[in-house]
Amino acid sequence: MQPVPNILHTIGNTPVVRINRLAPPHVNMFVKIEAFNPLGSVKDRLALGVIEAAEKSGELEPGQTVVEATSGNTGIGLAMVCAQKGYPLVLTMAESFSVERRKLMRFLGARVVLTPAPLKGTGMVAKARELAEANGWFLARQFENEANAEMHARTTGPEIIQAFADDPLDYWVTGYGTGGTLKGVAKVLREQSPKTRIVVCEPAEANLLDSGVVQKQNEDGSAAESHPAFKPHPMQGWTPDFISKLLSDARQAGGIDRILTIQNEAALDCSRELAQQEGIFVGISAGGTFAGALEVAEKAEDGSNILCMLPDTGERYLSTPLFADIEAEMDDEERALSASTPTAQM
Ligand code: PMP
Repeated sequence: MQPVPNILHTIGNTPVVRINRLAPPHVNMFVKIEAFNPLGSVKDRLALGVIEAAEKSGELEPGQTVVEATSGNTGIGLAMVCAQKGYPLVLTMAESFSVERRKLMRFLGARVVLTPAPLKGTGMVAKARELAEANGWFLARQFENEANAEMHARTTGPEIIQAFADDPLDYWVTGYGTGGTLKGVAKVLREQSPKTRIVVCEPAEANLLDSGVVQKQNEDGSAAESHPAFKPHPMQGWTPDFISKLLSDARQAGGIDRILTIQNEAALDCSRELAQQEGIFVGISAGGTFAGALEVAEKAEDGSNILCMLPDTGERYLSTPLFADIEAEMDDEERALSASTPTAQM
């Protein structure tokens, strides 16, 4: 690999990896591991896409402050892009998201404004909008910004087409946050791989799509209020408390063939299983998507190719329920091992 001009050139082109032990024998399961992006998540793509589109349109001027509401990964991706390009960055985030996310954003030079947990996703979005209006900052609007979906139509989608050029893809399984991945990739699949069935997963506790209840929207496409089917769930980055414009666009364009609802425990279990059986270390929403992919696999025709998106790294979840059973101290077995050789600690 040749040297690249800067870190932003390492975004995208993430590997598609075969699943071995966890896949039922009658199908071929693959995962696209977005943790290979430089800051460890699929949102690095969105961050670069949104900033470069705004630079091109003139909406973002040199040195202008960028502001955005984020559940973490978008903020971390934006912090990298803004650091590299020299834009000041302010992020708003509900205080319920993991502490390591805040610290990462601040480490990358961003300022983080916390919003009260009871105000949920819509609360942090409102705070970002207020700050943008009051200060003349550039609001990234990840939930409505077409540049988010376009980046996936330009990068993630073609990468998937290329990976399955010789042996077509039967099922593509994803979750959603902004719906950018879904809208962008679905557009490419419908055009270039029309036989691929698109399966969208969401938490059983927040089955916004599956409920069939329409989201109330403002004129600019942003959500007017919390969706009635939303309940807080542990799959950070997945399913905010509203159906975003990009997600509802994707649904209206016929980009969803099947909706699956995922139990919290299944998501946590799958994340652990991916780590311990396949050596693939990813977050909770990745576990949730993989749980959906296993459900698809069960009934899929023999020889089906199934691709599952894994949006981020497991390292972002050390303070969350994913690591609740992981101890820092030695257990009995480890103590016995320690005591079993001459340098045993007293
Ligand atoms: N999982 C995680 C951990 C995320 O951060 C995100 C993005 N919020 C997603 C899934 C969903 O991606 P998208 O926003 O493209 O729908």
